[in-house]
Amino acid sequence: MGARRGDERGFVRVTFAAAVIVALTALIACSPPQPAAHAYTAPAANAPASAARAASDGDLARLTAEAYAKFKDLRDGANADYIPELAKIPSELFGVAVVTVDGRVFTAGDVDYAFSIQSVSKPFTAALVMQEQGDEAIARKIGVEPTGMPFNSIMAIELGEARSRNPLVNAGAIAAVSMVKAKSAKAKYEKLLDWYGRFAGEKLKILPDIYKSEAATNNGNRGIGFILAKYDRIYADPLESVDVYTKQCSIGVTAKQLARMGATLANGGVNPVTHQRVVDEQHVPKLLAIMMMAGFYDESGAWAYDAGLPAKTGVGGGIVAIVPGEMAIVGFSPRLNKAGNSVRATAAIHYITTALHANVFVGHR
Ligand code: GLN
Repeated sequence: MGARRGDERGFVRVTFAAAVIVALTALIACSPPQPAAHAYTAPAANAPASAARAASDGDLARLTAEAYAKFKDLRDGANADYIPELAKIPSELFGVAVVTVDGRVFTAGDVDYAFSIQSVSKPFTAALVMQEQGDEAIARKIGVEPTGMPFNSIMAIELGEARSRNPLVNAGAIAAVSMVKAKSAKAKYEKLLDWYGRFAGEKLKILPDIYKSEAATNNGNRGIGFILAKYDRIYADPLESVDVYTKQCSIGVTAKQLARMGATLANGGVNPVTHQRVVDEQHVPKLLAIMMMAGFYDESGAWAYDAGLPAKTGVGGGIVAIVPGEMAIVGFSPRLNKAGNSVRATAAIHYITTALHANVFVGHR
């Protein structure tokens, strides 16, 4: 009897454990589709139907000003606070900047405030790896598949054989940093700073308080570095790679500078302001493809569906969207939604691109 009762208890325990596993698996596999989290407002019916390429200075200036005015009072979302210093950034800052491939610049709001680039740095580091080692190295040593999971997901590493998955999530971005060729960690960071500066068309600087704050609270990313090491998917010392990654995320950019960085990608790798080639043209479509699929974290599908443009977001509140061959559009506002994407920046960029019919999937404009 005792034995039977023990058997029953064992059976109940096994059955219960199995039920929990089934339920968890179902939860992971079938989490309900996320509604598009962007607070979009469709442009007025009388908005110009001009193609972005043909947009006049007047159109672009007006749309930039309208996007700013329309969303400046949007109070949805909140500053990131898992990096304590980011919680201190004034939440109502808001800037919109457009830079075209012929070097025209249109701005509204706080476009000269230097905020931390955070994850918007990731495609630019990937570009450096492509430039040094070929774009095939990114596919082979990191991966190019979207994760559908949060940017810092450890589950994404465990569930996917590529482990790092793509260079726009933390794991892949840390792996990308580990691939940058340099003699020391210091030299690697300086190379990245200089590289970003070539995209921006001017020297950039780190925001030391942001760096200190993230470096002091960075155990999640250190964990990611070690898990990648366990799977041989990081190519330099994990702690050193995480530290350089943290520094790259702490580089300050203004909306204007970031728009120039994006416009360099829109322009096939040539900075439209300095006219210098930064990255070889052949790498740009590959990079933009990854940005389309993974640039908005776990909202990348919704963004591609709604806007149809490669983009990259960061928890500093910056977003850059690329209209290939035409322009880059940047929004900056620290208020983020749950996925870590700036609410006002998303809305402002989408407002402008919708008005311009700028969507890479629209064949005829
Ligand atoms: N430095 C940040 C982090 O690693 C960047 C994240 C982001 O912008 N999504 O958490």
